[in-house]
Amino acid sequence: MVAEIIDGKLFSRKLRDQVAEHVTVLKKEHKVTPGLAVVLVGEDPASQVYVRSKGKQTIEAGMNSYEHKLNEDTSEADLLELVNRLNGDDEVHGILVQLPLPKHINEDAVINSIDPAKDVDGFHISNVGLLATGQKSMVPCTPLGCLLMLKGFHGTLAGMDAVIIGRSNIVGKPMAQLLLNESCTVTVTHSRTKNLEEVVGRADIIIAAVGRAEMVKGDWIKSGATLIDVGINRVEGSDGSKRLVGDVQFSSCSQVAGAITPVPGGVGPMTIACLLVNTLVACCRKYKLIEPDIISN
Ligand code: NDP
Repeated sequence: MVAEIIDGKLFSRKLRDQVAEHVTVLKKEHKVTPGLAVVLVGEDPASQVYVRSKGKQTIEAGMNSYEHKLNEDTSEADLLELVNRLNGDDEVHGILVQLPLPKHINEDAVINSIDPAKDVDGFHISNVGLLATGQKSMVPCTPLGCLLMLKGFHGTLAGMDAVIIGRSNIVGKPMAQLLLNESCTVTVTHSRTKNLEEVVGRADIIIAAVGRAEMVKGDWIKSGATLIDVGINRVEGSDGSKRLVGDVQFSSCSQVAGAITPVPGGVGPMTIACLLVNTLVACCRKYKLIEPDIISN
């Protein structure tokens, strides 16, 4: 194998340690404990796993965790009422409504009802606008995690050619804004992009956020490129066993790339660590305290 592994587990452990240290200082010197409220509607098994993991890591970082589990048939009005209550709760500094929501609930209405200062997912339109104009905002956790790994690995990213595969509001688009803010030359591709392989082949940095198992192959990429694999796909092996793979074919890409994130153990752990960072940042901003020097945005 040629590529260096960008170890998301290691990066995220360091990040969580930094958060925990900062929380200890906040508690001791300012008598403040950051609090994160996570709202889960319904019984989606993957969402249940994520919410459990978020709660556990929030507590491990020394913060307060508040879980609100609502039935699948909860009305939009009841959910909005809960969000409104959490907006006004002084113990809660961050609010995360786990997506996807059941079909009868308008996700945009719920996201935009969260106080932007507590919007630790960074999906509120105010935060989207602030990020797009290069202002201080809440940055979506997954792209933030990707950026921190890239900066940790490369230092400066200025002038690099970055190609993002996928244009979703939660990964592709904010990722593009973040990389533009780092002075990369950014191309965002999607399902209607022509000659995708050729576009990807020019990139110094490739962010794959598609949701198609092992789509990016080794012969697509430039030698020495850095690959950040956001995809999480559950596939069945020939023996019937299930395993997780990314959007990048690791076996072939790792022979050509300069650096690559594995799945699992790459972007995934960074996403939750960045949620803790955002909760800490939200808490510091509320009391006008010094923010952790973890993200420059
Ligand atoms: P979406 O389904 O919202 O977006 C997928 C994007 O991929 C779309 O923009 C779509 O294009 C594009 N696309 C689909 N097919 C192709 C193709 N053949 N060629 C080029 N582009 C294509 O997904 P998300 O952004 O929410 O998630 C992407 C992946 O990342 C998923 O596997 C998800 O599970 C994972 N994920 C992982 C996280 C983590 O913490 N590790 C967090 C969030 C997501 P178009 O817009 O034209 O339809």
